[in-house]
Amino acid sequence: MAEALSFDVLVIGSGASGLAAAVSAERAGARVALATKGSIQSCNSAKAQGGIQAALGEDDSPEQHAEDVWLSSHETADRRLVEVLTSEAPSAIAWLEELGVEFTRENGGYRLARCGGATQKRLLQVGDRTGHAITAALRDAAEGGSVTLFPRSPLVELERNENGWHTRCGEHRIDASTVILAAGGRCYAEAERRGELSTNHPGATGEVTRIALDAGAQARDLDALQYHPNGGAWPETMQGYSIPETTRAYGAVLLNADGEEFTDSLGPRDVVSQAIFDEVAKGKGVETEDGRPAVYLDTTRIDPHDAELSLPYMLRRYRAGGIDPLEEKLLTYPVLHYQNGGLVIDEHGETTLEGLYACGEIAGGTHGRNRMMGNSLLECVVFGRRAGRAAAARH
Ligand SMILES: Cc1cc2nc3c(=O)[nH]c(=O)nc-3n(C[C@H](O)[C@H](O)[C@H](O)COP(=O)(O)OP(=O)(O)OC[C@H]3O[C@@H](n4cnc5c(N)ncnc54)[C@H](O)[C@@H]3O)c2cc1C
Repeated sequence: MAEALSFDVLVIGSGASGLAAAVSAERAGARVALATKGSIQSCNSAKAQGGIQAALGEDDSPEQHAEDVWLSSHETADRRLVEVLTSEAPSAIAWLEELGVEFTRENGGYRLARCGGATQKRLLQVGDRTGHAITAALRDAAEGGSVTLFPRSPLVELERNENGWHTRCGEHRIDASTVILAAGGRCYAEAERRGELSTNHPGATGEVTRIALDAGAQARDLDALQYHPNGGAWPETMQGYSIPETTRAYGAVLLNADGEEFTDSLGPRDVVSQAIFDEVAKGKGVETEDGRPAVYLDTTRIDPHDAELSLPYMLRRYRAGGIDPLEEKLLTYPVLHYQNGGLVIDEHGETTLEGLYACGEIAGGTHGRNRMMGNSLLECVVFGRRAGRAAAARH
């Protein structure tokens, strides 16, 4: 077998967190490799539509943002991580802008929306393709630098050696002083196991968490999986699509079969999802043409100007399926979406094993047992940068 390749920092995964970590480690002077399971483009991050949170509004503050995270997590989040997340959010946005991300603006400022569980308008958007814009900019930065990329090279082995870590990624053997795990969550695999729908891409299968646990890393809240309250239920082509939460931020409301509002449509995600499950269990839901349970999301209440500016992709997708969301209500039901828990990390993204870092959805603590929308992309950037810099400094 060929001799192992050697790097200072090896990043696993090419979503927003892995790319942010790789770019940051490289800019800190490290020799960086990034190995990922599929193509470099394949990840959940690129599918994110709604937006990214940062306390940039006039009446807002990182402290208020932190309080909203804490309450939405039902007081289960790690407060040290939450403080880092919200206090570094404005500089994370500035960094993304330096890399070329152009957030939607109006009236001389950012167009900010309020997301579920938030007390202020705090969600920045790039239309409704925020994740695509962020990953494209990060990928350009990684490809434009000296990061060595290994697509179609899934991590299958991870063990300590005298200089750090030895890994096998597909057919490559790669040694590195430090390793950053950024391989995302497991909701695609979990939904398949449960026979349910998921918003996730097929690479979200969670084996890297298992490899880290086998190596001795600790995890928390791994049982806490999040349902997105508004999965598309009909037409068939939209099943498993996550209808952006910004529809509700811009005025859409949830209605039962009798046309009654049965919950605060902008409550925390777990509360809204549970309210939909309960309403259907009470017999107050509706059925899709293929017999699936659903309730209505009344998107006809959204101002067409807001929809054209902030929901163009959603409109295009539904209209292509024969439904105009501004003319008729959508059918929706919760779908498996996000792994709230994950590997235990400190403020620099280091796991409980020295020299092994984790960032993004694979890490736990930042959201406790219930994440607010818009804080995952933020976590990827804030902790990706931190993990990248810390891993580079250690080599
Ligand atoms: C449809 C959708 C909409 C969303 N909308 C929003 C939103 O508006 N705002 C928000 O903040 N969050 C949103 N989220 C959540 C957010 O996008 C993700 O949680 C976040 O982007 C995860 O980033 P990540 O880098 O941790 O993982 P991912 O982006 O999932 O990347 C993981 C990477 O690891 C790779 N990988 C997996 N296994 C292996 C292996 N064995 N070896 C090597 N590589 C591996 C994958 O191929 C992939 O490249 C949304 C998620 C989805 C699915």
